[in-house]
Amino acid sequence: MNQMTHFRRTKIIFTLGPATESEEMLEKLILAGVDIARLNMAHAKHDWTREVIRRIRAVSKKVGREIGIMMDIKGPEIRTGDVDAPMELKAGEIFDFTVKPGADRDNGEEVRSVNVNYQDLVNDITIGDTVLVDNGLIRLEVLEKDNAHLRCRVLIPGELKSRRHINLPGVKVNLPSFTEKDRGDTQVGIEEGIDFVALSFVREAKDIELLREYLQAHHSKAKIIAKIEDQTAISNLEEIIQATDSLMVARGDLGIECPFEDLPVIQRRAVKSCFDHGKPVIIATHMLESMITMPMPTRAEITDVANAVYEKADCVMLSGETTIGKYPLECVSILDKIARRIEEEGPFDFAEPEHVTGDKLKLLQSGVLLAHQVSDSALITFTRQGFMAAGLAALRPACAPIFAMTNSVETLRQLRLLRGVEPYILPLDSEPNDTIENAIALLVKAGRVQTGDKLIIATDLLTRDRLVDSVQLRTVR
Ligand code: PEP
Repeated sequence: MNQMTHFRRTKIIFTLGPATESEEMLEKLILAGVDIARLNMAHAKHDWTREVIRRIRAVSKKVGREIGIMMDIKGPEIRTGDVDAPMELKAGEIFDFTVKPGADRDNGEEVRSVNVNYQDLVNDITIGDTVLVDNGLIRLEVLEKDNAHLRCRVLIPGELKSRRHINLPGVKVNLPSFTEKDRGDTQVGIEEGIDFVALSFVREAKDIELLREYLQAHHSKAKIIAKIEDQTAISNLEEIIQATDSLMVARGDLGIECPFEDLPVIQRRAVKSCFDHGKPVIIATHMLESMITMPMPTRAEITDVANAVYEKADCVMLSGETTIGKYPLECVSILDKIARRIEEEGPFDFAEPEHVTGDKLKLLQSGVLLAHQVSDSALITFTRQGFMAAGLAALRPACAPIFAMTNSVETLRQLRLLRGVEPYILPLDSEPNDTIENAIALLVKAGRVQTGDKLIIATDLLTRDRLVDSVQLRTVR
């Protein structure tokens, strides 16, 4: 196989945690090919956040490979309060959720209870609704409510510990989408120069617009990733995809909030809609869950990862596997191996994204078409803010890497999200032909191309005073 085209198109996101935060481990992961580090702000303090962002930047610089950093803010989340000791909830037991701590029910009954951090819960919920606690491990049915309590019956028993996540399938929760905590976290991220902000529990396009306004007001160019995690998001999928820069299919919460058998259908629909809109898409959660404790994935996990690659998602994401898992490095190498193998199977078809229109689309399509005609070729494009590379990636060329030349390290880090894009830093202000020659020389020096390789250049290169649209076929000399 041609060395140039033997590369991984599917990008790998890993979540940073105790298992991966050391300098040594970061170095190994970056060299192993991770593309983006995710910081889960549900569990992160600000001092730690600043420290690890700086560490990632320093290690990237040391090893000469810049990766992107995603800050995942937790959005509207309902949690139980503290309990003195874990409570064993029994099947059939009557149990209260209290939204006004200290408010007695005053009916003399002996009913155990836990506080909840959201007062309007009693208004949002209806008798007969389901309350799920701790990632759906405990299930309760709502029997009664007053202005301070929800009285429930335990349907599926379990152990209730402090500060557990609550899901309310099908309930439209009135919490703000971009909370005070999210603002504080995002501010830290902006100050430290993060590349992506992932907003949890996005329910409608308005949620994204709020975050976008905040980023713009604070002069941040971070790209927005909308995490779809509940039924409202699924109902509003089209408007969310239109409003966002990219999408994450957050299967952890989605699998609790929606009937589990719907999950594969939702994933496929979300990936397809992202294609139609030319937006990158991430498949997240439980990809290699068993590898938190075991050195090898299950057959089902291998097939799940393969399915995401067959669907041509841009990224696959690791969570617990790399925060607390015993085998974080092995997880990355296994994702890498599966992705490369499945990508070899890729069929010849390309999408027609909506956001690249007119002559620009024709230019990019011609480049991709040519790349398909010339076997073992690769694409080169020049991109200041990433639009040309994003346009090419959205077309999903099956048989060529997209070498994206940019003069901005911020753009380079954001290009790590896009399927098939291999970004490089190159000054873009010389004459067009010199810039193309410089790009080829850079790729030769990096060992990515060699004499005789065929390169297709699709560019609207802005030089000193001219915009040059062209598709060219060149042979490396
Ligand atoms: C998920 O629910 O799949 C997810 C990625 O979100 P979080 O890890 O923030 O719960």
